[in-house]
Amino acid sequence: MKTQKTVANIIVVGAGFAGVAVVKTLLKTHVNAKITVVTDKDYMTYYPSLYGLVTDANQSEAAFPLTSIFPERVHILRATFSRVDHERRVVIALHKGVETLLPYDYVVVALGSEVNYFNIPGLKERSFSFKSVDSALALKAHFESVLASAKTLEKNDAVARLHTLVVGGGPSGLEVAATLKHYLVKRAKIHGIDSSLVTIDLIEASSRLLPTMSEKISRIAEARIRTLGVNVFTNRALQSEDIDEVVLNDMEVKTGTVIWTAGTSINNEYSTISGVTLSERKRVVVTDYLTLPTDDRVFIAGDGAATEYSGLAQTAIHNGKYIGKTITRMIRGKNLTPYKPHVPTFVIPIGKNWALFSHQSMLWCGVLPSILRRLIDWQYKWSITK
Ligand SMILES: Cc1cc2nc3c(=O)[nH]c(=O)nc-3n(C[C@H](O)[C@H](O)[C@H](O)COP(=O)(O)OP(=O)(O)OC[C@H]3O[C@@H](n4cnc5c(N)ncnc54)[C@H](O)[C@@H]3O)c2cc1C
Repeated sequence: MKTQKTVANIIVVGAGFAGVAVVKTLLKTHVNAKITVVTDKDYMTYYPSLYGLVTDANQSEAAFPLTSIFPERVHILRATFSRVDHERRVVIALHKGVETLLPYDYVVVALGSEVNYFNIPGLKERSFSFKSVDSALALKAHFESVLASAKTLEKNDAVARLHTLVVGGGPSGLEVAATLKHYLVKRAKIHGIDSSLVTIDLIEASSRLLPTMSEKISRIAEARIRTLGVNVFTNRALQSEDIDEVVLNDMEVKTGTVIWTAGTSINNEYSTISGVTLSERKRVVVTDYLTLPTDDRVFIAGDGAATEYSGLAQTAIHNGKYIGKTITRMIRGKNLTPYKPHVPTFVIPIGKNWALFSHQSMLWCGVLPSILRRLIDWQYKWSITK
């Protein structure tokens, strides 16, 4: 008589960079498991392509339907994660408003980050951010209304209306400021507006752009962004935002658009999981195997996990691959190896056909890194949908 092998139940919460990597790795190992993905969206957001949605890219470049990523054997449950019941070993999710209990042998929580406005008065209500396809499309629509209205204004008012403030001098702030400068100048000409009225300021609270990278990289990035006509202000922290005026620590600025790239924090839903403690950098403390210290069947992946270099897509993918392999080894009763971080490579586009490449002590900038960046984006998109 054949003995029936039990099939492990694996629940992956979140279908972003980490969640997708977990599932893809599990599928590659051919592990005998039932895989369920719990996700609040039926697509995966490719965040690095969101800036392109404001300028010319098509929505399909930043959002990939999950049915094109996962084969049919992966069950996709469109639901909102609620909590984990460790004792009963169930994940609780809200599906069409109804609590659904999902029994698990292993669960991976990969809920990503959210925008953090640090309680700065007016900021959440008045600024734009890049956290979703909808937010990128809202900014695109806003710019069209700014350009349409600027045509009808007196010069001084038009200058204020066409003034954009990008807050945050990290990789996102640099990329978005450079992209928008080119785009808005082009759109102003099409609208019959003097393009010299378009101004973009990049504001950074610390003393230099890319403050987490070397001083040499900061100098190169600042020189590059200035040649594109973007004004750079360092040592300026945003304090509050009104409808068309923002207050920095020592000046008031009239502006038509504020874009906030200066703060993210891990998804608030992590706080609902019992056993979660946060590190100094406010990420979930995990063991050497990326599990919760209180439950070795609950893994945390991506931006939420307090691993070295978290907060990057490449780290989220690396976490996800490790967890996929580790769960397979657990199911097969094999020895486990601890997680090893992967030193990230930065390729930061700053304007058309120019990017800054940095890996450990290697530094390279110009056209070739920008081609490399396009190849990396293309390779990732191809790898998940092939
Ligand atoms: C504009 C922008 C550009 C970026 N560019 C780069 C870059 O060039 N290089 C780089 O390395 N990193 C980049 N990053 C960072 C990178 O995108 C993140 O580090 C990465 O997305 C983290 O992966 P994750 O799987 O943890 O989270 P995510 O990819 O955000 O996935 C989280 C998933 O959880 C789902 N979810 C959230 N809440 C719930 C809930 N309650 N219930 C169910 N599902 C839920 C979401 O829908 C999503 O599918 C960028 C980020 C942004 C915002």
